[in-house]
Amino acid sequence: MTSMRIRVSYGTAIVLGLLQARQDVAPTTAYLLFDRGCIGQCSFCSRANGNTASKKLSRIIWPEYELAEVIQKLTTPPLPFARVCLQTGYNPESEIELKKLAKQISATGIATSITLSPSQTVLAGELLDLGLDHIGIGLDAANSETYAEHKKKDWQTDWPALQNLLKQHGSKIEVHLIFGLGDSEETLCQRIQEIVDGGGQISLFALTPVNGGKAPELAEYRRMQAFRFLCEQGKTRFENCRFTNGRLVALPFSDAELVAALDNGNAFRTSGCGNCNRPYYNERPGQTFFNYPRPLSAAEFAAAMAAMQLQQESDWSAAAN
Ligand code: SF4
Repeated sequence: MTSMRIRVSYGTAIVLGLLQARQDVAPTTAYLLFDRGCIGQCSFCSRANGNTASKKLSRIIWPEYELAEVIQKLTTPPLPFARVCLQTGYNPESEIELKKLAKQISATGIATSITLSPSQTVLAGELLDLGLDHIGIGLDAANSETYAEHKKKDWQTDWPALQNLLKQHGSKIEVHLIFGLGDSEETLCQRIQEIVDGGGQISLFALTPVNGGKAPELAEYRRMQAFRFLCEQGKTRFENCRFTNGRLVALPFSDAELVAALDNGNAFRTSGCGNCNRPYYNERPGQTFFNYPRPLSAAEFAAAMAAMQLQQESDWSAAAN
């Protein structure tokens, strides 16, 4: 086995027994980080511009361990995780090493996901051909202006490439989107619809302002979660929802139908690959979760419903008539 070191999310390291610390919610996927100096320039990322010295990605600390030890812990029964997600910094020069690492992890037999840059759609196809289970693509922004501003990348190149990847491998692609980068709710919902129509899934995050900016309001984020969930389930479409000045004001359901459709609050849980719950990516322990990493209690579900401030059934019917 190659001798190398790899970063492991703090929560993952606790589950693997590499660290002893208290844990409120355990991750249900093992999050690993491979970064040989990210050449990406995302405005919201602490590791952008080759800042490998940062021990953080989003809110999370990633201590480093020997890869062999991590693999040994991951594969010792009873298996602590049903999925591994290898998060990566974007650097074309390390792609050969990345492929080897991906092969090595996926050879354990544990379903393996990898997160890549939208500039790596070709690599995404190659990794899926090698047997990787899912690929997360960090599109993050939902339109060409916010993409240029926050990713410093060219939408005209990257969006068609992503659509092409979806055409070939849609059911294995999770497109990561961040709400809070300046896209309106309407723009985000329209993009979600296009990705779902293309065959992909959405992994939705709230902006974590580690580099400035502002986290979204809980109300608007809850509305985006509800739309994402209903859209992926084929229960609603962008064209059937009502927006005013870019804000989602009504979903095409009665109150009772909406409660049933949001499935005990599962709409407000972390979205993405099976078993991906990413606890504390977007919030500190003790804060209300943007993405719930576990089932919601009845009270939490009721609070999330109320937070959305959608129009009531009578309003919806009036608008529909
Ligand atoms: S959805 Fe979760 S497991 Fe899947 S690629 Fe994204 S972070 Fe990884």
